[in-house]
Amino acid sequence: MKIKFIGATESVTGSKHLLLTEKGRQVLLDCGLYQGMGRETDEMNRHLDLDPSKIDAVILSHGHIDHCGNLPNLVKQGFNGWIYCTPATYDVCSILLIDSAHIHEGDIRFLNKRRTRTGQSPLKPLYTVHEAEKCLKHFKKITFDTDFHLNDELSFRFTENGHIIGSAAITVTVVEQGKTTRLAFTGDIGRYSDPLLIAPENFPQADYIICESTYGDRLHEPVGDTESKLMNILNKTCVENQGKVIIPAFSLGRTQEILYMFDKLKNKGLLPDIKLYVDSPLSSKATNIVRKHPESFNEELRNYLKRDPDPFGFKNLSYIEETAESKALNEMKEPCVIISASGMADAGRVKHHIANNIGNEKNTILITGYCAPNTLGAKLMNGEKSVHIFGEFYPVKAKVESILSLSAHADYSEIIRYLSCQNKDQVKKIFLVHGETDAKTSLKEKLISEGFKDVSIPVKGESYKLDH
Ligand SMILES: [Zn+2]
Repeated sequence: MKIKFIGATESVTGSKHLLLTEKGRQVLLDCGLYQGMGRETDEMNRHLDLDPSKIDAVILSHGHIDHCGNLPNLVKQGFNGWIYCTPATYDVCSILLIDSAHIHEGDIRFLNKRRTRTGQSPLKPLYTVHEAEKCLKHFKKITFDTDFHLNDELSFRFTENGHIIGSAAITVTVVEQGKTTRLAFTGDIGRYSDPLLIAPENFPQADYIICESTYGDRLHEPVGDTESKLMNILNKTCVENQGKVIIPAFSLGRTQEILYMFDKLKNKGLLPDIKLYVDSPLSSKATNIVRKHPESFNEELRNYLKRDPDPFGFKNLSYIEETAESKALNEMKEPCVIISASGMADAGRVKHHIANNIGNEKNTILITGYCAPNTLGAKLMNGEKSVHIFGEFYPVKAKVESILSLSAHADYSEIIRYLSCQNKDQVKKIFLVHGETDAKTSLKEKLISEGFKDVSIPVKGESYKLDH
């Protein structure tokens, strides 16, 4: 068989790897969107660099848009097989793909207004909500830790990898001319200290491994006492200064991690008597999906559920749905906490909340995750004295704080720990994907010094023959 690397080679987005068997079957691992690649992004996403009608099946590692976000386009361009994923990944995709379609439709509507004014022909969105819904009909749910046989040549198995709810490493077993070859794809690897999820689990022995390398050159901040830090920010801002705390947070994962911390503080009687709001319809939906999948929770959270059946809900916490209710938060004078998307503060309702509260030194904006360069979140973290929001400059008078220990991606020590379940002598080659050049180069050196024989960094479009 052969493996062809189509996406997430020179970047951390656009995950797409194509497996081709000797009998001519084609299986696609992930079909993600490129994100943040500048002007080229749209063109790169429209060209899949493969023939969708020739693909027999897609196996999906998890529901992040850079891994699943181009599936509606794949179906639109002629793919007619099944998309296999875990049950929780299906639930995640059922909200994130629809949300993604709404964003594409909205962006194109905006662009077309300008094009019509200048006499240019209108463009079509990458995919519509209807096309995303159509794509979801191709999904087939497969549980963790079971071997699923696709045909006489191919089978696969999902293993928990602790990155987000439903996320999996994929081990594909291929039998050709009586010989068995195993290819493992790590997907995005989670953390051993995730506040909510099961730690990454061992995956079956592989001959070849496609491994992510996002933080291949970095170690995360120690988790430390994040709860105390959160409580101190709350006491200082809301109790002493009578201000508001605005928390930009990713809808899936980070929002629930923060809510769980607040829930624990509440149960310990440490949470001040203030109102808290989750102001993002997508975050509300994502929280419901996480609630639906306690099988992916770590032991601490499972035990917690016995005492408190809802770790993401407590007195004083409200989930805001309607735009009018969201706007009403602006008029509120009393101290409160507003958790809203997006995590990088570059889109969504959180931008309005930041615009409304950034000019008051009593308030705090709390960044809770990585912010890509040039996003509003990154500018605030860099300590810029004034920022541009909705075409206007706002002086930054509110305090800017950050909690950065909550990453959903393994750092290099955790990647090495994750791969340590493998017998290194049996692993013929590791391919590094999903990382910037420095991260991949650094991880390659580390894996070789750990005793792995051969570590390659494939480039876009490159194929490798996988010998038995
Ligand atoms: Zn991911």
